[in-house]
Amino acid sequence: MTNTQPESFDVVIVGASFSGLTLAHHLPKTLKVLIVDAKPTAGATVESTGLITEHTREEFKTFFPIDDHITNPITTIAVIAPNYDDWFVSQTASPWIYQTDTKSLVKTLAATLPKNVTLKTSTAFTKVDDQDQPKFITLLHQGKQYQVETKFLVGADGGNSKVAQVINGLSKNKNFLFGFEQVHYGEVHLGPIPEETIYHFWFGEFSLGYGGWLSPTRLNGKPAFRIGIAKLPKDRGEVHELLKRFLSLLQRRGIITITNDPNKPDYVFGSHIPIGGVLKNIHHNNTLLIGDAGGFCGAFAADGIKGSVVSGKESANVITRFLSGEPYALQKLKPQMNKHHSLMHYYKKQVHYRFIWDLMKRDRTFTQMYKVIESEKESFLEQFCDSKEKRKSLAWTVIKFKHVPKLVKYTWYLFCDRFARKG
Ligand SMILES: Cc1cc2nc3c(=O)[nH]c(=O)nc-3n(C[C@H](O)[C@H](O)[C@H](O)COP(=O)(O)OP(=O)(O)OC[C@H]3O[C@@H](n4cnc5c(N)ncnc54)[C@H](O)[C@@H]3O)c2cc1C
Repeated sequence: MTNTQPESFDVVIVGASFSGLTLAHHLPKTLKVLIVDAKPTAGATVESTGLITEHTREEFKTFFPIDDHITNPITTIAVIAPNYDDWFVSQTASPWIYQTDTKSLVKTLAATLPKNVTLKTSTAFTKVDDQDQPKFITLLHQGKQYQVETKFLVGADGGNSKVAQVINGLSKNKNFLFGFEQVHYGEVHLGPIPEETIYHFWFGEFSLGYGGWLSPTRLNGKPAFRIGIAKLPKDRGEVHELLKRFLSLLQRRGIITITNDPNKPDYVFGSHIPIGGVLKNIHHNNTLLIGDAGGFCGAFAADGIKGSVVSGKESANVITRFLSGEPYALQKLKPQMNKHHSLMHYYKKQVHYRFIWDLMKRDRTFTQMYKVIESEKESFLEQFCDSKEKRKSLAWTVIKFKHVPKLVKYTWYLFCDRFARKG
């Protein structure tokens, strides 16, 4: 510990990724802000596939030239059944989601921060002087600890938030998926327009919890793809081996070709995704959790970028009001966020979908669900978009009289899955 007087800030933000950087862009320029991240540089690694919806693109556009970081718009979803032979595509007239270049996006968000914000990387937040109402924050840089003083502390430090751990009154995420992804140079060959398609693999027994994904993109001007699986955290030890098998299976079936050494992807990462829904206590005295730290992530779709950007934007407003002497301002964050296309309702629905998905254990159950959805393929993506962004429910896509026989079979399999061994 050095003997120099700790530098003083109005707001300290822990985490320089989607949520922390968005907040730093939106806080008033009159406030002195510090944002810290343990990584060597902001965007050195980004633990996200980086798919954003049209509405998330609009949220970015209000403060950031997001289109410079979009590699390819996506109009089509391909759903692949557990046997890999059956698949369908569903298309919309205009892009539904967008693949971004995550590293350039986060790097540029950091490089364009306003002058009132100081960014310190290779700097980890470790503890506070008072776990109820912190004033002095301890940071660790190159093995040396030092303190800074702050009026307000924000945890934008991801699902396993250290800020949430050290502040007594804050809730902590408890339910997670472990997502593991590799980025390879190469091409995808399935379906009519692979570069505009996101591929979702439903293979229950292989990867319980979520399934697998394949998202074509471009890296340094060359065709590439992102491929990943998500597992329950207890099975995270298997992810390397499973992704290897998944990759070679897709190669054997001619679905992908890889131009680099398959054992040397351009980029690899794994991280926890909070899937328990929005946390109850996201603020306590002069502290607040945003982004994944606050549980602002779709429990079923595992999409958290929108929640990060929206919570980053809206928290700027409530923090400013709090610092101006409105003690209850932080309570307004969730209602304010809900004004962005009913985001809080979306998160609630996602928790229900997660509940059903977690009941499914066997490939035959996923296959049966696939059969129901396949017969709605013409409207599936339109409905899916609606359910993602509006208040319509995806459930109404499948709960129809004509599907009763298939749904009865599905329900029976679901019931039998209760007796199947987990994992
Ligand atoms: C495999 C995978 C794929 C995903 N794909 C998508 C997708 O396609 N679309 C989508 O919308 N969402 C996706 N998500 C979720 C999305 O990435 C997250 O919701 C989003 O990154 C959350 O942003 P954040 O800023 O809250 O936290 P994070 O992006 O997790 O960033 C937290 C930051 O805090 C820093 N940090 C942590 N602890 C400390 C500490 N003690 N001191 C200093 N710094 C610290 C970390 O270094 C990190 O930079 C995916 C997640 C995973 C894991």
